Amino acid sequence: MMQMLIKNAKLRNQSDLMDVAVDDGKIKEIGKRVLCEADTVVDAEGRLVTSSFIEPHIHLDKNNVLDEMPDAKVVTLQDAIDIQAIAKKNYSVERIVKRGSDVVNRAIVNGTLNIRSHIDLDDVAGIVTYDGVAALKEKYKGVCDIQIVAFPQVGLIKCPMAKELMEEAMKRGADVVGGMPANENSPDDSREHVKFCFDLAEKYDADVDMHVDETDDPFYRTLEMVADEALKRGYIGRVTAGHTCALAAYDDHYASYVIEKVAKAGMRIITNPPTNLVLEGRNDKQPIRRGITRVKELLAAGVTVCFGQDNLNDTFYPFGAANSLQLANLTGHAAQMTAPDEIEKLYDMITVDAAKILGLEDYGLEIGKNANLVILDATDVREAIRLDSDRLYVIRKGKVVAQTERETKLFI
Ligand SMILES: [Zn+2]
Repeated sequence: MMQMLIKNAKLRNQSDLMDVAVDDGKIKEIGKRVLCEADTVVDAEGRLVTSSFIEPHIHLDKNNVLDEMPDAKVVTLQDAIDIQAIAKKNYSVERIVKRGSDVVNRAIVNGTLNIRSHIDLDDVAGIVTYDGVAALKEKYKGVCDIQIVAFPQVGLIKCPMAKELMEEAMKRGADVVGGMPANENSPDDSREHVKFCFDLAEKYDADVDMHVDETDDPFYRTLEMVADEALKRGYIGRVTAGHTCALAAYDDHYASYVIEKVAKAGMRIITNPPTNLVLEGRNDKQPIRRGITRVKELLAAGVTVCFGQDNLNDTFYPFGAANSLQLANLTGHAAQMTAPDEIEKLYDMITVDAAKILGLEDYGLEIGKNANLVILDATDVREAIRLDSDRLYVIRKGKVVAQTERETKLFI
């Protein structure tokens, strides 16, 4: 007796419908007709079945904070950071869990079962951000796995207390070392910031995932610093850079020189179109730049690129629904990815490519991997992204963790 049998599944890049059998939380068999008994049998009726989604860059400590300050008016990234600092004074574990639970619940319903969240560490936030998101991580354990990135948003040289907090967060169990090297007073300080983060990562044998050059000002060149540091230390394939907006502002020659280093260091890039489309390019007259990094050039250089929600109902971004298909749609527009292979790539970015960034070894729709799956009300990837199709079933290790049944009435 198997745990679950999904019949008549449309898998990516397979023309025939397939059956997927699951036992002990793992995918046991995939075939045109799998003959077995199962505790739960789901007939997908030709609908698309894929691995569950992954959100690689979000901020569960601050998401939904706009509910507590609905009149906040943000024009630039600095406004968002300044106004956020006011909100931080009222942070508590309970508030973070309440705000974050709404986000994680939505993510699960939307098919996302792995999340990487940054948490602010500075002299205003203290360590409560770690404790709050660690409580969320515990709450959702076994349903939606959360990785925590220790993130010194206001700088490390600018805010020395953040160094102690970074160390403390790692000691308490943060998974990844973050950073924000452009937010220092000089390139020398940025370099010291990068060095501190790598030292800490080496000490805890952790990956690095920094916010890098989240600006459209080409003066900021910390992406090259991060790549240089990774190459120098042999931290190959262990470093992720989020945003890298300034890369789009560099001249082509310097940009390709930096991309080459990024590729050589096996770095991964996460673009965050929701926040960057609205916060970058704010001082431009027409034409207003898009504000996102050079996605296609990075992909062409063989760099793994994904995208994230980043901000959601907070001072940085007033919208957002923790919905990976919605983000795929947005990224398709922002990065001009509309050809058939590019649309498939958008889907890779919320599944197999993001799994590389999070280092998920048991991930994928293959025999022996965890049966973390989503059954969509769509027959192919383009339809799913185009229509933001319902996730009819969200399955975690062979167990249904969310189900959507929608009834719409049309009177014509
Ligand atoms: Zn971010």
